[in-house]
Amino acid sequence: SGCSQRAGTDATATGSGSGAGAAAGGFAAGSLIGVSLPQKTSQNWEDAQRLFPEKLKAAGFESQVQFANSGVAEQQSQISALITRGAKALIIGPIDGSQLGSQLAQAKAAGIPVISYDRMITNSADVNYLVTFQPDKVGELQGQSLLQGLEAKAGHPAPYNVELFAGSPDDNNARIFFEGAMKVLQPKIDDGTLKVPSGQVSFQQAATQGWDPKTAQNRMDSILTANYSGATLDGVLSPNDTIARALITSITNAGKPVPPMTGQDSDPESIKLIKDGVQYSTIDKPTLSQVDASVEIVKQLAAGQKVSVTNGESDNGVTKIPTDFLDPTLVTSANLAEVYGKDPVRGPIATGQG
Ligand code: BGC
Repeated sequence: SGCSQRAGTDATATGSGSGAGAAAGGFAAGSLIGVSLPQKTSQNWEDAQRLFPEKLKAAGFESQVQFANSGVAEQQSQISALITRGAKALIIGPIDGSQLGSQLAQAKAAGIPVISYDRMITNSADVNYLVTFQPDKVGELQGQSLLQGLEAKAGHPAPYNVELFAGSPDDNNARIFFEGAMKVLQPKIDDGTLKVPSGQVSFQQAATQGWDPKTAQNRMDSILTANYSGATLDGVLSPNDTIARALITSITNAGKPVPPMTGQDSDPESIKLIKDGVQYSTIDKPTLSQVDASVEIVKQLAAGQKVSVTNGESDNGVTKIPTDFLDPTLVTSANLAEVYGKDPVRGPIATGQG
């Protein structure tokens, strides 16, 4: 995988020639911070849209948060425009992390540090920090929860029939999520515990371009028609909640019971489904923590301090990026109330008051 953790690694300011760290120097209170985000393919991006301006303002900065709803070219021009407008730092959640090389070179030339947000920017040395929920662990937790769900709910001994779905191939996270899950599931496919009746087991086959729920739903429709007229579907690996709900729709439309289904993001709609026993699990990655961690880096950069909040590094193929890895949490009906207890939106849903 493209991601590795090394506890205790410092983000040392190294000056030019390396992506690690950012040139010290700092910038003033009231500076503009540019935030460039992808399409709103899940609730977490909506949350980021609300939280970034709020938290950057509280930290004393101006901000501009932009979404590249029409794709990579739009994101490229939005980043260039933020640089031209005088942004002092950039926080970027890339659509395709491999396509921002010239914009980041432009940022570097202007002395603007770049924080890769949630998704890793690859193919460039000019990325200074990464803030992300450990993506390999997200995948492993998804794989483990699928196995747990099968054992608890299939109502018969193995073998279990499962189908596998993954996220968008241009999002570096998607492959890491899938590989993390397959680290758990592949040995069970090899020993015959799991069967994949469609035969579609590679990342390429499982991937969902653009994280588009309709694309995943159509693929599930075809799989059910071709492989499940006489067979039971016992479980589904879904890469996030948005896609999980589309797959639940497909299965329900086919007149079949919804089997254990994984997810990711703590979408309020999916929390209801978990509470009602329809979706089996999600992965909690609180957007607030990820926004706070990013703003913390901006604050330290502004103060001209050495950034001290990273706890590892990620190899993006060109450089090692000092990384603040946050810890994802598996959520099922068993720990729902505990995990979301204090969340003003999710808490009431989890405890039945929402
Ligand atoms: C994020 C997920 C999200 C997906 C689709 C991924 O990069 O890590 O939380 O579900 O993008 O928006």
